[in-house]
Amino acid sequence: LKQPFIKQNQGQTLPSSSTIAALKFNPEDIQTGLQQNEFIAYYQPQINLKTGELHGAEALVRWHHPNGLIMPDDFLPLIESNQQILLLTESVIEQALKQMTIWLESGLPPLQISINLSAAYLYELDLPALMTRLLKRYQAPADMITFEITERIGLSDHNQAVSDTLTRLRLKSFSLSIDDFGTGYSSLSQLNQLPFNEIKIDKSFVFHMLSSPISKAIVESSVTLSHQLGVRCVAEGIETEEMKQALCKMGCHIGQGYLYSKALPPDEFLNWTENYISE
Ligand code: C2E
Ligand code: CA
Ligand code: CA
Ligand code: CA
Repeated sequence: LKQPFIKQNQGQTLPSSSTIAALKFNPEDIQTGLQQNEFIAYYQPQINLKTGELHGAEALVRWHHPNGLIMPDDFLPLIESNQQILLLTESVIEQALKQMTIWLESGLPPLQISINLSAAYLYELDLPALMTRLLKRYQAPADMITFEITERIGLSDHNQAVSDTLTRLRLKSFSLSIDDFGTGYSSLSQLNQLPFNEIKIDKSFVFHMLSSPISKAIVESSVTLSHQLGVRCVAEGIETEEMKQALCKMGCHIGQGYLYSKALPPDEFLNWTENYISE
């Protein structure tokens, strides 16, 4: 479903891996890239669909490789060693927390920041301990941070270590989101067994909700489910005003997508918010 929708990187100064299909890099370059801090968190605005106000931002990592910009789908699958996973995750989290402080100092209202985690990382990382350290260093409030958890490999929702980690994070007031809700392993049984307080409807359903009755039904029942469970509902991949209207009518709380903006480097994000708020 990804291919027909490649629109990201429009207007970016660096060439992107989706436009330069043959962009060459070696998996070993990842090590160098980590050492050189080439992995940069970009931010995509999240909007309160009812009020139109800026709600927050999702951090999405890009690789500023010497040969061009590389998108996460092109390098995340190549990151294999635990050490690399830890370094990348820690770097993205730290960049995001630093950014929260900078934005507050620039006069933005407090923004909810979402950070992506692959479920598999949760085995490697003592995330609650890391977060305690980082929150102290950056004076950031836990309740403004959401972890979006994706399952690519079928994390057993009954895995005790993972479930303990997630519970500890919720007890510390972090929010937990089921990313790509409705696809693959990201589904109902997790909502039932793990302490999630947000569902994130996958863009594949949002893209087709106006043309496919099945996609529309999936979106609609996800929104209804979120209401019944009292959890926040976020829709990604909103590209048109019509999609936004439909989601708003269903009662979806938060939305993000190219209708508002693609993911932006930190300073461009700040510019974007200034224009958005003053409109
Ligand atoms: P995701 O978490 O499902 O993120 C949504 C993806 O959809 C992002 O792609 C975003 O740029 C794109 N998107 C958002 N709105 C629209 C829209 O309106 N139209 C279209 N066509 N696309 C839209 P991106 O940034 O390439 O990220 C791909 C995936 O890589 C993410 O999917 C996430 O699973 C993963 N990822 C990104 N950053 C990180 C990270 O720091 N850590 C981890 N573990 N995974 C990450
Ligand atoms: Ca996500
Ligand atoms: Ca998704
Ligand atoms: Ca995804």
